[in-house]
Amino acid sequence: MASGGEGECLDVAIVGGGIGGTYTAWRLRERGLKIAIFENTDRIGGRTFSVFLPSVPNVPADLGAMRFHRGIHTTLEGLLPQLGLRSEVFQPDQFQKMFHFRGRRLTGEELNSTKLPYNLSPSESKITSNLIWRLSQQALNVSRPDQIPDIEEATTPDGVPVYKQSYLNLMDKLWSSEAKNYLKDLSVFYTLFDTNVNAVHDAVATNPLVPSPQFTLFNTSLLFQIRPRRICASQVILALPPGALKNIQWGPLQNALPVKTALESVNDFSAMKIFLAYPSAWWDNFSVNYKAFFTDLPLRQGGEFGRFRNSSGHETALMMVSYADTKENNDFWRHLRSSPNTISSFIVPAAFSVSTKVVEHVHHHLATMYDVNASSIPMPIDGVMHIWDDPQNGGAWQLFKPGYQPKAVANFIQQPSASDDVFIVTNAFSRDLYGWSEGCLRAADKVLRQFFNMI
Ligand SMILES: Cc1cc2nc3c(=O)[nH]c(=O)nc-3n(C[C@H](O)[C@H](O)[C@H](O)COP(=O)(O)OP(=O)(O)OC[C@H]3O[C@@H](n4cnc5c(N)ncnc54)[C@H](O)[C@@H]3O)c2cc1C
Repeated sequence: MASGGEGECLDVAIVGGGIGGTYTAWRLRERGLKIAIFENTDRIGGRTFSVFLPSVPNVPADLGAMRFHRGIHTTLEGLLPQLGLRSEVFQPDQFQKMFHFRGRRLTGEELNSTKLPYNLSPSESKITSNLIWRLSQQALNVSRPDQIPDIEEATTPDGVPVYKQSYLNLMDKLWSSEAKNYLKDLSVFYTLFDTNVNAVHDAVATNPLVPSPQFTLFNTSLLFQIRPRRICASQVILALPPGALKNIQWGPLQNALPVKTALESVNDFSAMKIFLAYPSAWWDNFSVNYKAFFTDLPLRQGGEFGRFRNSSGHETALMMVSYADTKENNDFWRHLRSSPNTISSFIVPAAFSVSTKVVEHVHHHLATMYDVNASSIPMPIDGVMHIWDDPQNGGAWQLFKPGYQPKAVANFIQQPSASDDVFIVTNAFSRDLYGWSEGCLRAADKVLRQFFNMI
């Protein structure tokens, strides 16, 4: 990577222009150092990727990260005023959401009723946030969220260390398989379940059915270009996801067994999103008017993102029609995407256009959920989609596998070789909130504190 070369040396070379790399550079700039970011695409932002379609030019289609939780994503929240960014309340009311599972349409209120299409025992039929909390209570033997112990030290009542168990292992011990199905379907992400049980801790805090508002951050993407060349730098920060780190030709990452083991400590999960812009907010016309939905159909979750009124008073609207996180769903939409006719009005670099086949299937599922005729849904005027499973970089997010202790891995991986000033910043190996951009910011702060003496 960094080597003595021609010309003047950089103080810090940052490899990767996602939120981790750009945040680290932004914080280091106050040191008066010579810093450069090296990004191998023509876009800054990485997995934070917002696109503005010409037909709804004021509403970002957030193809990657889109929300944060006040009071939990504290670093991100603290940054907003410093960067002059604004945030908005996002899907404020759980009861405006439509739920559709096993062919049945339910309101938020009905989730907690006998209408639930799951055969649950009375103690299991509680809305998911309560159920997840009950799971933590039983598994960790606590009665209040503030009593949740250090998950890496805790054991379940049968004496097994918590970090060695997956969420699914834990549910197997405590609940019926129907309760597991229910919880999986109603949890925002399927990917939580194959992961280290530490996710329970995060899930209690961030479960979307907890009626606390979430916020969205509007970002814009900048262009950035580099040419392949030899770089000299005193210190290097690799702000890259594990998939990209594995491709770096540097001895300690390629050969040192403990480093290789640490790089393998996370599972890589893929995800996809589809946005469609419509000539009007057609969902206003039906008797069921929900702003957002959540379903076991391949759409999984979606909702209105916003509207645009032009100077002659005409209103267009943007809907996220799908956000799903299983390989099956990704494969399903990828296959449809490859059909030749597209509705996208312009090419967004690095994002995918939307085929008429994708629209046909989206409308079929929307019509099922809303219980309307598919022909009553107007054709979209524009669309954009993305599938996050690039073989070079990896997927949408990474979560620790059972058997690994996040804190230990995070501490170790941040400087993979004691004799080199090469540091790693990534949300994947953060000590906490690792799936989120917040995890990435915290990992960056830790490296800056420990190796650059910054507070
Ligand atoms: C669909 C989706 C939804 C999400 N939702 C949320 C959310 O709601 N809230 C939230 O907080 N987080 C969310 N996240 C997670 C969040 O996006 C990430 O945690 C965060 O963006 C990671 O930033 P990063 O800088 O660590 O990595 P990345 O954003 O992946 O940045 C790495 C950069 O390095 C570049 N790169 C790779 N290899 C090389 C190389 N060899 N040389 C130079 N450059 C290289 C890549 O092109 C990329 O730009 C979501 C992610 C996805 C995909």
